[in-house]
Amino acid sequence: MNRFSFEEITTHLITSGFVYPGSEIYGGLANSWDYGPLGTLLKNHLKNLWTRHFVRGIEYNVQIDPAIIMNPRVWEATGHVANFHDPLVDCKYCHSRYRADDLIKDQKPELDVDNMQLEELNAEIQKGEIVCPKCGKAEFTPIRQFQMMFKTFMGVTEDKSSVVYLRPETAQGIFVNFKNVLRTTRRKLPVGICDIGKSFRNEITPGNFTFRTREFEQMEIEFFFKPGEDQKWFEFYKDNCKSFVERLGLRDENVRFRDHEPAELAFYSQATTDIEYDFPTMGWGELMGIACRGDYDLKRHMESSKADLTYLDPETNTRYIPHVVEPSFGLDRLMLALLCDAYDVETLADNDSRIVMHLAYELAPYTVAIMPLSNKLSDKAKEVFNLLKVDFDCIFDTTGSIGKRYRREDAIGTPFCITYDFDSETDHMVTIRERDSMKQERIPITEIKEYIRKALDSHLVK
Ligand code: ATP
Repeated sequence: MNRFSFEEITTHLITSGFVYPGSEIYGGLANSWDYGPLGTLLKNHLKNLWTRHFVRGIEYNVQIDPAIIMNPRVWEATGHVANFHDPLVDCKYCHSRYRADDLIKDQKPELDVDNMQLEELNAEIQKGEIVCPKCGKAEFTPIRQFQMMFKTFMGVTEDKSSVVYLRPETAQGIFVNFKNVLRTTRRKLPVGICDIGKSFRNEITPGNFTFRTREFEQMEIEFFFKPGEDQKWFEFYKDNCKSFVERLGLRDENVRFRDHEPAELAFYSQATTDIEYDFPTMGWGELMGIACRGDYDLKRHMESSKADLTYLDPETNTRYIPHVVEPSFGLDRLMLALLCDAYDVETLADNDSRIVMHLAYELAPYTVAIMPLSNKLSDKAKEVFNLLKVDFDCIFDTTGSIGKRYRREDAIGTPFCITYDFDSETDHMVTIRERDSMKQERIPITEIKEYIRKALDSHLVK
């Protein structure tokens, strides 16, 4: 259980430069967030780690980067145009807006909401038993279905024929390229196609900081294999996702794998597991899902596009539509979980305290901070900075006492601080201080790189 409130942590993230409110000088834009220098570095490190783990680390996998705007027929084929709706209600008194299914789930957990038809949800909402969490009144507008895909127009005319959508998931860019990847990489099944990119959903109830936004990034894999091997690859990805999450350093007690109940499963899915994180204040929330999708997506695209997406198995000389396992991570949610997990306020001697972000070394925005003890030593300390910047993300900090600079780096998670002092001029050594233990050591400048590399290696959860 996290000891700190969501508000305390997110305030720290905003004030220290991980995240900024979107369009702030214009009064902001509801639930839109920009990543600052620290958030951007952390995000890039997380993407790199995912790529190393799932693309480089699994011999069957390759990565592609498909377009955000796709032929609108893609979304007709997948059912998104017809079905990607949320049931929306407004409180008649305070005008707060909710998803009807979420309201009912929270207040009547005994009901099987996932299997209720729209009319049943509406009847439940109108009974007068469900109350508005904000004002406590029990009168809502009838449910309206709300299309969650962002629509825009392509080209100069704004008519029906030029409507296109911003993709609500990255996965379909993978399915439509399945044949291209097989052909150009000359691979045989199993093949995994990976993608990192932005997705857009016009969520009715965004919120909880970056947990639910309308623009977010996903890291998805569609893994194609021979029908019948579903369970084997599902377990394979469950294990891989588990070792990935362990590598991130999230505390065990804050993470759980939740298998979907049969009633929760999509009709084409044999099994789905979510990885959830116990966020401070808001509780358990989904970070990612691993789903068995059978041949559902390729089949829909075959029917709709008339393209042949079958696979000729060279071993059996038979044709079939491959089955798919889909591990789908939300990058922004994963980052938020990491930041919540890492945040700590430690009491030190003499009534002192420090905020410290215990991020895994390889994820921390900066790996090293270089600090000249006095401004007079700046040029020499810069030489150390220049030596290290090629291999590590470094920050050069000259302002305030060394103690203050340590605190600043602790608060953003920098694992190592290097102080260049007057003795360094003659003994060519520096003081290196580690974030978690606060231990200091004096080491030769020529050995810093090796020292940090070894420390990074030993900090990896393998
Ligand atoms: P939820 O039930 O929370 O709306 P979902 O089950 O619809 O999520 P998926 O379609 O499975 O989500 O998307 C895969 C991942 O993408 C999710 O596990 C989540 O991490 C991320 N994600 C989905 N919607 C959002 C959003 N609006 N903001 C941020 N991340 C999101």
